[in-house]
Amino acid sequence: MESINIIDAGKHVDEEVVIGAWLTNKRSSGKIAFLQLRDGSAYFQGVVIKANVAEEIFELAKELKQETSIKITGTIHEDQRSHFGYEIEISNIEVIGESDEYPITPKEHGTDFLMDNRHLYLRHQKPFAIMKVRNEIIRATYEFFNNEGFTKLDAPILTGSAPEGTTELFETDYFGQPAFLSQTGQLYAEAGAMAYGKVFTFGPTFRAEKSKTRRHLTEFWMIEPEMAWMHQEDSLELQERYIAFLVQNVIDHCAYELKLLDRDIETLRKYTQLPFPRLSYDDAVELLKENGFDVEWGVDFGSPEETFLANHFEKPVFIVNFPKAIKAFYMKRHPLRDDVVISADLLAPEGYGEIIGGSERDTDYEYLKARIEEQGLSLDEYGWYLDLRKYGSVPHSGFGLGLERAVTWITGTEHIREAIPFPRTITRIRP
Ligand code: ATP
Ligand code: MG
Ligand code: MG
Ligand code: MG
Repeated sequence: MESINIIDAGKHVDEEVVIGAWLTNKRSSGKIAFLQLRDGSAYFQGVVIKANVAEEIFELAKELKQETSIKITGTIHEDQRSHFGYEIEISNIEVIGESDEYPITPKEHGTDFLMDNRHLYLRHQKPFAIMKVRNEIIRATYEFFNNEGFTKLDAPILTGSAPEGTTELFETDYFGQPAFLSQTGQLYAEAGAMAYGKVFTFGPTFRAEKSKTRRHLTEFWMIEPEMAWMHQEDSLELQERYIAFLVQNVIDHCAYELKLLDRDIETLRKYTQLPFPRLSYDDAVELLKENGFDVEWGVDFGSPEETFLANHFEKPVFIVNFPKAIKAFYMKRHPLRDDVVISADLLAPEGYGEIIGGSERDTDYEYLKARIEEQGLSLDEYGWYLDLRKYGSVPHSGFGLGLERAVTWITGTEHIREAIPFPRTITRIRP
């Protein structure tokens, strides 16, 4: 008899199969027991009919405790009433691992409790669906960039420098020297682009974010493509195709998960329609002012401004050409203006804010050297980076997508801590 994952039930209708599963809930009457089960691929119902099984199997089914692991034998039937579409009529149950009194009961629990029990909570439907979508986004990311001719380049996690600002650094001791956990792989990606043309880094990223928001983790995963020979407009086109590809693949491959999350597919479909609007920072400030926001030219947008801008267009929107003073030193100067840089943030609608930050990179050695000094960064640390401008520099652009921002938005989840298996925030480092 074949051992299967229940997600493949459709290929085994009316067949007898074996499934390794855990009990999530149960109810029974004198004649029938309904077991709610999960096997890691889906949530489904097993039915034990007293008249059709040995007496001890029916008794065992009635006594199983939540989270007991079992091997069940049974026949798959279609079941249009469930999210999943199939159920299994059980003929035999073998207990593999007993379960103690399980702390996460079917009643409502608070967020802190669930996060304290994250190692167990991952088993439940909402985290399950989010993690499967996260996995699909990762899978589709590799597919997209491989198809586009990119090489994945792994950037170091332990670094000697802090390109995104010194206030959000995690410092550690590196054999007696200070070292920092990576805030971005970008500078290394630039070295990679000069070596292999188009590269992307994808790794853990650390920022000691001191504020508590729904969008900031202290440890998150970032995908950072960097493209030699690409100017900003080509990069924006790549970004929007990438985002549309992610959303389309989630729609195509995660229908069951989106149903579990109650995520409206028609809303998601709108995000696959290109192009995304582009709005200059100058115009964004005007639009915000016209709509009652108290913003001055020169400030970075916060969550209310970002939410308004993307909702205004009902689509992800690029805000382009930010003030130089609020952006990183490596961004390219605007050819006609000294006060802005050729940069873009992609803002997601429905209140999810910035999901991508990117720019064209300046290629001028003397300018970058001056910018590094101006920002109080050490020339010793950035000498290797400046080398990239000394030996055959070419126009190049790149961007960073926060994986958890994308997952939170695409799944329609309220808080970014739900989008990573074991979240790290200002108040949480366990489990
Ligand atoms: P924000 O303005 O939201 O603080 P940022 O401008 O500081 O973000 P970037 O340095 O541009 O972020 O990093 C690129 C991307 O990484 C962001 O667009 C976002 O998707 C993601 N990101 C940045 N900080 C965090 C964080 N603390 N937690 C999760 N994702 C983050
Ligand atoms: Mg930030
Ligand atoms: Mg930002
Ligand atoms: Mg940014």
